[in-house]
Amino acid sequence: MSDQYHFIGNDALESLKKVLDGLAPSGIFLVHGHKSYSDCGAAEAMGSLLKGYEVTEFDAFSSNPKYEEAEAGCEAFIASGADVVIGVGGGSGMDIAKAIRHLAAARFEAVTGSKKMIPLVAVPTTSGTGAEATKFVVLYKDGKKMSMEAEDVLPDYAVVYPPFTCSSNLYLTICAGFDAIAQAIESVWSVGATEESCSYAFKALGLMWKTLPKAAYMTLEDRAKMAEGAYWAGRAINITRTTAPHAYSYTFTSEYLYPHGHAVALTFPFFFGYNLGCTVSDYSGKDFGEYTDRISRLKEVLGISTAAEMLAYVDRLGISELRRNQDIDWDSYLDSVNPDRLANNPRPMDAISNALLVRDLEKNRSRKTDRVISILFMQEFKEVLLRTLGSFMNFCSRNGLRWYLAYGGAIGAVRHKGMVPWDDDIDVYMPREDYEKLLKMDAFPDGYGILAARRGDYDVPFSYIKYVDRRTSLQEMWKYRVDTGVFVDVFPLDSCDGDVSAIDAFRKKYLKIFQLYKRGTRKYRFEDWKKSCERLDFHAICVAVIDRCILRYLRYWYRSRFNKMDESLAGSEGDYYVSLGSPYPTFKEIYSKEWFKDTTTMQFDGLEVQLPAGYDSLLRQIYGDYMQMPPEDKRESDHHHYILDLKRKLS
Ligand SMILES: [Zn+2]
Repeated sequence: MSDQYHFIGNDALESLKKVLDGLAPSGIFLVHGHKSYSDCGAAEAMGSLLKGYEVTEFDAFSSNPKYEEAEAGCEAFIASGADVVIGVGGGSGMDIAKAIRHLAAARFEAVTGSKKMIPLVAVPTTSGTGAEATKFVVLYKDGKKMSMEAEDVLPDYAVVYPPFTCSSNLYLTICAGFDAIAQAIESVWSVGATEESCSYAFKALGLMWKTLPKAAYMTLEDRAKMAEGAYWAGRAINITRTTAPHAYSYTFTSEYLYPHGHAVALTFPFFFGYNLGCTVSDYSGKDFGEYTDRISRLKEVLGISTAAEMLAYVDRLGISELRRNQDIDWDSYLDSVNPDRLANNPRPMDAISNALLVRDLEKNRSRKTDRVISILFMQEFKEVLLRTLGSFMNFCSRNGLRWYLAYGGAIGAVRHKGMVPWDDDIDVYMPREDYEKLLKMDAFPDGYGILAARRGDYDVPFSYIKYVDRRTSLQEMWKYRVDTGVFVDVFPLDSCDGDVSAIDAFRKKYLKIFQLYKRGTRKYRFEDWKKSCERLDFHAICVAVIDRCILRYLRYWYRSRFNKMDESLAGSEGDYYVSLGSPYPTFKEIYSKEWFKDTTTMQFDGLEVQLPAGYDSLLRQIYGDYMQMPPEDKRESDHHHYILDLKRKLS
């Protein structure tokens, strides 16, 4: 049997019930995992679903199942008299059920001379392996890996019920999800790809590629997309098999204990660049023209085309690196690569490409400052950020400083009673009078402080105040190499008369002078400099030369000019406020002072924050209909934080 019935979605269990009613089994052999089985809600749901059937449960297997365990399972199945096998679990629960059915079918055939039909149902509880859709099983026999592959290993029914995948922890969700994405991509470039396998793989990528980076705040809808995507990725590799990233991953799992998806992710950026750079002379398959068609479609679907972009994607997931203090025996690692799986790779590997791969893996692990905030850190980061806001609030109330939650934070307070789920920074407004007082203060709570160009003691690439947690390390933009720590941005509110064009002219000058100071503090990396030269990018070269040779020496002069302008704002008057330092156009940043006459208190992830009473008019002016959630693909932060360490100061 090469085809399979599949039921995907929140009604999948009802479909399973109907299937079982139709099969009318005399007994059911239910294979499932241990703790995960009850944690994910499957124990309860399957219990009530199977009420009335004679059920024999089997869970005597390890997380990397052994051949002996499958044989014991087969014995137990025959002894039970059951005639349907159901496997519920992540990879191993389904794998062992698949092996049991395969062994039992062979047993019947040996005894009776004819095949007996034993229906097999697979119910995944993680979104990743796609094992419910493949005809392979990996087992361990005498400590060695053995693959079992046969048509009757493929389950007859795949039942993908997304709520079962909700309980897995964030790291494992990411690992499993990336495994599924890797399987889909590998299937696209595999030399065994067919029209059918590509249609499954692209369907899978359409569901998963943009969904997985939301892992930290996935909705049930997103979970459903991941679960369905993993199923189609399984269907795709069932045809094509996996390729080099999988072949190079197994030792990371067996010897160095990385979860499978993390192990695949380690080499994935390298192979993404390597395979996409395949030429007609080194293509292992038959039809190179057809291969390039597949690859250009892949680039289109993913929206990326280089190893660096793939690395950035995996970086965000937090699974791009080897552990810091772990020595890898690279020779035996390279020796252990399975040549069979490698044969599916579109471009062969040789000693030189192996050396480049190892170089990349070591380079990734030694990067210190290029790590974009990964969603694995997101939860922890938000806790530290809210703690910083809390400290700022206390400090202000003790010192009688006025402030109001601003921008995305204000939307979050109104719409979500906390931070917008995909947001990663907090801004506040502070009237100029209070802002000037804050600038002159020295006694901050333990561990906290402020940074500002006006304080003059630090090269800072921002024109306003940052209230920072000095015990943490965070860098916003690598070009400025400034480790601010986790921060709350404090934007001054300056009085003005509401004359948009005059204010706009002043603002342009104010920001221009600041920009010239900021450029003088820019750092250049040799590699980027080299790249600009190689590409003959004259604009980039000129900018770099001006920054390094002129502005660098004039920066303090520009800073003092900026500081004078900023100080002079303390004397301004009028019925309006303007926020000069924001990225929005000036007409959106001129607020009526009426809106700030009173404040209103709102809940914000457990804190009680203040908004101007006229927040609705203010937010409408900047964002339009701010209560409307943005379209799904816009639910993303546009900041680029490099989290260095949330527990200590590195610099
Ligand atoms: Zn895999």
